[in-house]
Amino acid sequence: MAPAPLSPFVGALAMAVREALVALLALDPSQAVAFSLAAPPPPTPGWIASLTLSLPEGDLILDVAGVTTARDAWFRTAHLAWSYRSSGGRDPFSQPELARWLHALRETATRLDRSPLAPPPVRALLDAVDRYLPFSRLSDESYRLLMDGPDGAAGILWLGFGCDQDCVVCWQDRAAPSPPPELFSRWLDEMLSAGARSVILSGGEPTRHPSLLDLARRAHAAGAHTIVETNALRLLDDDYRRALLATGVDELSVSLHAADAVTSDAITRAPGTHARTVAGIEACLRDGLPVGIHCVVERANASSLAAHADFVVARFARPLRGLRRVSYSLPTRYADQERYRRGLAPVDALRPGLTAALRTLRGAGVEARFLGMGGFPLCAVEDPRAERPAAALSEGERGDRVYARPCEGCAVRPWCGGVPAAYLEACGEGGLRPVRGASAVDGAKGEQPGRSVP
Ligand code: SF4
Repeated sequence: MAPAPLSPFVGALAMAVREALVALLALDPSQAVAFSLAAPPPPTPGWIASLTLSLPEGDLILDVAGVTTARDAWFRTAHLAWSYRSSGGRDPFSQPELARWLHALRETATRLDRSPLAPPPVRALLDAVDRYLPFSRLSDESYRLLMDGPDGAAGILWLGFGCDQDCVVCWQDRAAPSPPPELFSRWLDEMLSAGARSVILSGGEPTRHPSLLDLARRAHAAGAHTIVETNALRLLDDDYRRALLATGVDELSVSLHAADAVTSDAITRAPGTHARTVAGIEACLRDGLPVGIHCVVERANASSLAAHADFVVARFARPLRGLRRVSYSLPTRYADQERYRRGLAPVDALRPGLTAALRTLRGAGVEARFLGMGGFPLCAVEDPRAERPAAALSEGERGDRVYARPCEGCAVRPWCGGVPAAYLEACGEGGLRPVRGASAVDGAKGEQPGRSVP
């Protein structure tokens, strides 16, 4: 079943600007065939709304901006700056009908917006822009996603981006705003109605969100496998931990990026939190909350993966019960893109440690993963032929992953997801190690539908 669309939030804020602009100019809404709204990158404040109008004489692009920041405007009214572009590159004033239309537009806008106190249609536009601008660098997919996974539809909710850590491997802007709490409730209902078999409640740090317990309770009660992604710091609070346990949550996924506090606290940029996360995991396992551990691998911890696995086994798996799995993944992206490029570790640098870590964990009876969405290519381990993913990556899970030149003719390519395009840009293809010989997979036909780099 194809996932049903989820209610827009950021998209609806942008559309409210479009509607206010159309109302201001008394346009026929069907004339406005395309719309975009952008804010320039900081430190420049401001905004530009671009409306493409389909007129009998041809298409015309109208740019409307806040009056204080716009440069090179065609004309300015009390609160707005107006510009035009012809979509075909011709000067609209060379066409009498378009010229007449533009003159009429200028007259209307000038008459409407000439006093310091903005009249209702102008006020409505400015208010709609004010509501949209804090979210202008985000999209609805920054807060919720519903996609087809190997086990059916899977939903994820990011309950805002506030966190008591500030991991370098995180893609989020800690100061980014959050939608109203009740919206997450609606999105959860929509995901469940669409048949979501699993729901991940993430953040930021989701235990800071007032709705987490309610969302977890409802997702679990509806039969969805419910996972909370957390740093486990708040789970040191006995009352909160037991309240979370009472929701029936199926699993916690706790980020723990290193065995030693120095490396871990450097990655989380939160001194002292390694010890508290470890204690939080122990408290959860003692109370019977199943825990999975997630380790994002970058240059800072790439050489200590074997120690990570030793620590996990000694501290959690042997003395306690309920450790579900340990998964190792590549960083998705960082809030700081330059830091992301510098942080990505070449596959050949982590191959020995990752191989040793998987061996240690599996030897102790702990499920260990390194493939899948956000995961590594098969050649990140010494013996790729021994690794067979449960399912190929879906289109949504593949994202921007590609195959490089070494992948041509690689025997395990049918089951390998390749690497993110950004990995190749940062680390090159030298670390990839194709598997030679016949296909490792009995009956494998073709390959995953990924792109190859030219
Ligand atoms: S060489 Fe390419 S196809 Fe083969 S395992 Fe590595 S990334 Fe995958």
